[in-house]
Amino acid sequence: MSKWTTSPREALRAGKGFDLAAFDPSSRPGWDHSRAAGEARLAKNGVRLGELQERLFADGRTGGTRSVLLVLQGMDTAGKGGIVRHVIGLVDPQGVQLKSFGVPTETERAQHYLQRIRDGLPTPGHIGVFDRSHYEDVLVVRVNELVPREVWEPRYDEINAFEKEVVDGGTTIVKVALMVSPAEQKARLRERLERPDKYWKYNPGDLDVRTQWPLYQEAYQAVLDRTSTEHAPWYVVPADSKWYARMAIGRLLREALEDLDLGWPPADFDVEAELARLDAQPT
Ligand code: ADP
Repeated sequence: MSKWTTSPREALRAGKGFDLAAFDPSSRPGWDHSRAAGEARLAKNGVRLGELQERLFADGRTGGTRSVLLVLQGMDTAGKGGIVRHVIGLVDPQGVQLKSFGVPTETERAQHYLQRIRDGLPTPGHIGVFDRSHYEDVLVVRVNELVPREVWEPRYDEINAFEKEVVDGGTTIVKVALMVSPAEQKARLRERLERPDKYWKYNPGDLDVRTQWPLYQEAYQAVLDRTSTEHAPWYVVPADSKWYARMAIGRLLREALEDLDLGWPPADFDVEAELARLDAQPT
């Protein structure tokens, strides 16, 4: 079985001085092998992910307080949906809490922007997945000036403090920015327009967002500069190869679960006595 040369945790982490302009969305950091080898790796990883997720679920059922939150951000067509289907799809759905954050409703708009995020946090024992997140409040909101600068500017610090509180409460946060190149995005949008089975994914507004690409790059750079913290670092995942992005995120998630170091909950009953009672019963 082919192995990573550098773990995605090391290879993809947005550290100090990370430069998005120099980042290549078609690269495959840490992986020198073929697509077939990558797909085999993801499948194998999936088996382990499933087992770890079951341990987390069992822990939550027996009074544990831990959970894991995967935050997915990325431009249209970057493959957020594919991550949900192909990576999260490898684990038992009853242990997953998926939330998608679109344009805030009227009720949500009347609340603090973090309120709907708090309401969507995973409960103990679960893997939460955010398809878009509070980062939209410093991405689309900043790019389109939906609120003035004085309002969005303090949000970076506020988000860091919020995430610290979430982490201290027992939730591991794994933040992933999926980066697709403009050329690959164009090809994916074209596919949506050429295949009737993909029309449903197409939104004419996506083309308008595309014209704002440099502004989004700038907004993503600010997010990476200001919110890649020790307690909740960002991983920037090249997304031109869907299989690479999936296997990398599968591995990031697995490591987050491994770090919880959860065993199986001990029996809270007398195992020998219960076995004796079972044996005493007729077949
Ligand atoms: P997707 O494009 O992810 O498939 P949708 O079609 O529901 O899903 O799009 C979600 C839209 O909601 C995106 O255009 C995104 O920019 C927007 N959105 C998400 N959060 C906010 C927010 N806080 N303020 C304004 N727009 C937001």
